[in-house]
Amino acid sequence: MTQDLRRALAAALRHSLEHLETLNEQPVGATRSVESLRESLLKRLADQGIDAPQVVEELVADVRGGLHGNAGGRFFAWVIGGALPAAVAADWMTTAWDQNAGMFAVAPAAAIVEEAVGAWLKDLLGLPASASFALVTGGQMANTTGLAAARHRVLHNAGWDVERRGLFGAPSIRVVTGEHRHATILRALRLLGMGTDSLIELPLDAEGRLQANALQEELSKDPAVPTIVLMQAGDVNIGAFDNFEVLVPIAREYRAWVHIDGAFGLWAAASSRFRHFLKGADQADSWATDGHKWLNVPYDCGYAIVADVDAHRAAMSQHAEYLLPSEARDQVDWNPEFSRRARGFATYAAIRQLGRRGIADLVERCCDSAHAIAMGLGALSGAELVWEPRINQGLVRFLDLKPNATEADHDKRTEEVIRRIVASGEAFFGPTTWKGRRCMRISVCNWQTSAEDVHRTIKAVERELGSFE
Ligand SMILES: *Cc1c(COP(=O)(O)O)cnc(C)c1O
Repeated sequence: MTQDLRRALAAALRHSLEHLETLNEQPVGATRSVESLRESLLKRLADQGIDAPQVVEELVADVRGGLHGNAGGRFFAWVIGGALPAAVAADWMTTAWDQNAGMFAVAPAAAIVEEAVGAWLKDLLGLPASASFALVTGGQMANTTGLAAARHRVLHNAGWDVERRGLFGAPSIRVVTGEHRHATILRALRLLGMGTDSLIELPLDAEGRLQANALQEELSKDPAVPTIVLMQAGDVNIGAFDNFEVLVPIAREYRAWVHIDGAFGLWAAASSRFRHFLKGADQADSWATDGHKWLNVPYDCGYAIVADVDAHRAAMSQHAEYLLPSEARDQVDWNPEFSRRARGFATYAAIRQLGRRGIADLVERCCDSAHAIAMGLGALSGAELVWEPRINQGLVRFLDLKPNATEADHDKRTEEVIRRIVASGEAFFGPTTWKGRRCMRISVCNWQTSAEDVHRTIKAVERELGSFE
């Protein structure tokens, strides 16, 4: 048994290092087809088990070519970070320690580590030190947790105890947001029983931000209805930040709860160069952000932070007869899970590895790289800069250079160029539709992206554009 464990873990270490240390020589995108992956992985369920080390070896062999190289520096699709060395190591230890981090009594060190992490996060993100928090699986559950606290408060204010009575017969809730809200908001509303019909999406200004007059107008239509205003710090296309300084006070006038989805954008607060985008964000009621994006903690890791501690606790706290009274913070009182991974260790390690200055530097380097890539690509013949990054998100598109080319031709060309870049293995990008046009998104949030990666990426795109002539 001990031998098995040793050999299995030794294999895991060897293969992990091989993966991480050869990222620069490997294609950035997966190269295997769905059929080929199924052929390797959809094995007949065996009656007889096999030795642990062999399981590891076969798993590694079977997934080869089916992994994206998003742990490396040239993966710019979606908003996917890598993982810092200390965070990877701490995440492994978390697995080995196998703590059930639901309560202090069940996993004491894990609970105290989360106390430390919560305090550090609020400090780094410029949020009130008195706020409560929860380390959840990602932005989806961070939004859900924040909105659960919001639901409690706005219905409590309307004389309705939602935790006890549910939503049958409850006053309806209005959720006001902009058209740029993230897809996860819809599921949060569905899970919380508010339904997607509760959402009112307001048109945005040219910079992708909620407009003060539109918000004022919507709220004043029905000033008494329980209301949540959902703002955003960093949308996925252009990294737009709502103007919190102006918008939060408007929401306040109507006793609305303000939730900010800042899955990656909230991290701009860590840098003195970018902090200004978050002016006034600390006046909101709840915030959602991710660890597994810009902080470069392994998946799955997000953070919900709530200024209204009582609303947060009322929405989440969980008691059972066999639980002991606690001397410390019990995660079950703040989290949507009961038994859970001790995910605080990886965040603890990431923050300790970087320190305050290292996190600011990570944010700034990513923004500078995004800017350099967007400008470099935009300057190529056959390319057009669509959004110059203000933070770490930019957009370009590619033009069909034939005479009389239509928008549809450019859309098609953009998709084809993306396909060719990804096929080249040199970099990985994804498409989006922004203001009706197909674009290529440039999202940089990996600690590893270097000047060399930026250069190599621009060269690779230039080569692919040349292949059309
Ligand atoms: C990624 C993202 C989410 C969802 O976060 P997950 O960690 O993927 O659940 C929500 N909002 C925004 C703005 C995001 O970028």
